[in-house]
Amino acid sequence: MIGATGSIGRSAADVAATQPDRLRLVALAARARWQDACALAQRFGVEALALEDEGAASAAAERLAGSGVAVLRGAAGVAEIARWPSADVTLAAATGIAGLPPVLAALRAGKDVALANKESLVAAGRLVSETARLCGARLLPVDGEHCGVFQCLHGRPPGSDLARLWLTASGGPFRAWDAERIARATPDEALRHPVWPMGRRITVDSASLMNKGFEVIEAAWLFGLPPGDIRVVVHPQGIVHALIQFVDGAFLAQCSHPDMRLPIAYALGFPDRWPQSRVPTLDPTALGRLDFEPPDERRFPCLRLAYDAAERGRLCPAALNGADEVAVERFLRGEIAFGDVPSVLEDALARHDEGDDGSLDAVLAADGAARARARAWARRVSLAPRAGRTAEGG
Ligand code: MG
Repeated sequence: MIGATGSIGRSAADVAATQPDRLRLVALAARARWQDACALAQRFGVEALALEDEGAASAAAERLAGSGVAVLRGAAGVAEIARWPSADVTLAAATGIAGLPPVLAALRAGKDVALANKESLVAAGRLVSETARLCGARLLPVDGEHCGVFQCLHGRPPGSDLARLWLTASGGPFRAWDAERIARATPDEALRHPVWPMGRRITVDSASLMNKGFEVIEAAWLFGLPPGDIRVVVHPQGIVHALIQFVDGAFLAQCSHPDMRLPIAYALGFPDRWPQSRVPTLDPTALGRLDFEPPDERRFPCLRLAYDAAERGRLCPAALNGADEVAVERFLRGEIAFGDVPSVLEDALARHDEGDDGSLDAVLAADGAARARARAWARRVSLAPRAGRTAEGG
């Protein structure tokens, strides 16, 4: 398990704890939360633990001395956990572009990857898909909407009978807000997600619909469809996670209580389903109503930016993700406004140079360049008076 101490990691640990006959956690990696990582390692009796942060790794090594748990350090240690010999499947649950190298390490070792790190496919979709194909490894979607599509398709690739896919979006905390109020939203307001408890970055990305835009790109790679055949529909109750539309006009939908333990268990158990004692069961008679509405790209321009980047292709989505990671971080620190986030992304995309040799280095270079541009934009804006701002950061 990579990203063991994050939101997905905690849910996955819960799944592992309820499925002792089916799952054994053998190795885990985290970035810096060494106390949580050590507690998990001891609870599950893992063979090895890696911490990306060197200081955290030293602290963990001291804590676990004599316990029989090998402690690895740095990015190399994380990659080693990703391809750990006794593991059948690697759960990739780190957040951000930092989650990409371990995904590639796992695939290159022929490990199936239960993929919760969407940035891997957003930034490096071609590289990740090709690596999986060449190494005979499967990508099993953990992202709730993609797991919903995967369930509707019974794990088969889409056939010629499929017309399009629909991903649902809760609409986030600003679904009913006007554009002006959204632009002035505070970090606390953006972090109040109405349906899913998640990490901070993805929660802010959900409030801007950037997360849904990334999910369109992710779905395009997972299911081999053009981005235009992947639609978004706002569904505030978060009960329907995805719909697939056939050429004859019929739809299939995947519905469940919004709980990440379901997609995690489905990805790890596929093609089997396991009883989930801790997840509340959906009662259709108690649902009352389910609402659906089109997304408003005027109030939520990040969604359109994602489609634009997907259509341009190559390294554009990598630049979009890199700029977004910086923009969200600066927003959470109070340095830029929520309404500045799409402007930072637009600036990064407008100045993005084409050119893609398909390598990890090219992806990381595009990511780094977009981050540098986003940082420069945020610096100009945070120094500028609040009034009279322009998209150029004036
Ligand atoms: Mg999702």
